[in-house]
Amino acid sequence: MSSEQPKTVLAICAHPDDAEFSCAGTLILLHEQGWKVHIATMASGNCGSVDLDPNAIARIRRAEADASAAIIGGQHHYLGGTDLQLFVDNATRSAATALIREINPDCIITHYPVDYMPDHEVTSATARAAAFTAPMPNYVVGAASALLPTARIVPLYYCCPLGGTDYFGNPVIPDFYVDISTVIEQKIAALACHDSQRAWLRKQHGIDQYIEEMKCWDADMGRLVGVPYAEGLFLHKGHAYPQTPLIQQAVGKHYILRKQTVWEPVA
Ligand SMILES: [Zn+2]
Repeated sequence: MSSEQPKTVLAICAHPDDAEFSCAGTLILLHEQGWKVHIATMASGNCGSVDLDPNAIARIRRAEADASAAIIGGQHHYLGGTDLQLFVDNATRSAATALIREINPDCIITHYPVDYMPDHEVTSATARAAAFTAPMPNYVVGAASALLPTARIVPLYYCCPLGGTDYFGNPVIPDFYVDISTVIEQKIAALACHDSQRAWLRKQHGIDQYIEEMKCWDADMGRLVGVPYAEGLFLHKGHAYPQTPLIQQAVGKHYILRKQTVWEPVA
């Protein structure tokens, strides 16, 4: 562990359990390196049941997300939205901006810009915009307007879309991979906290699809780079966003650079 001031990562995801599917292994490794870990969910997960009403399932899922964040070594924050009523608008951006100002992270992780689920795409666009607006003193964020703007835009990372493919089934090849094999059991334990979702899928499919799916996706990713389990990440490279490789450096020996040979166009 470094003797410098501990760094902070903020994962901004759409729903309870999204971070656990996509980047929890990386978050656990960063926590092991002394980083502070925060996980935000934009929406409550209120559509995640066929038996319980929206308020009841939202309450359960918030508690599940709190418990899971504790296993990851982080803290969970709920930003007040509801499932499938998230839009790229000022209210949503303000909520994310206020949290960034409060936490003052060194980097942010969010969903890949193109994903199967509309809330994931809105969250990705919102996190990207909020990372940009957080340092702007004249961007006032309502009740949190007293919060100081951050000093600068911080590096922004995207996870792989769930399943690792785009709308057309083509593999989305990340910039780099994080070997999460040493922390896969902890990632499973975190995901298992979302028992309401696990039980629902178990009832639907008759097997423990919830955990198995995550393990399969991470094993597929790992196979590309020769390790048992991996997560893939992208660094935002557009104008104004720094490209300091904070996560790549922090995870050390777990960092694996993209192999150019994994995706070759048909001749
Ligand atoms: Zn989700």
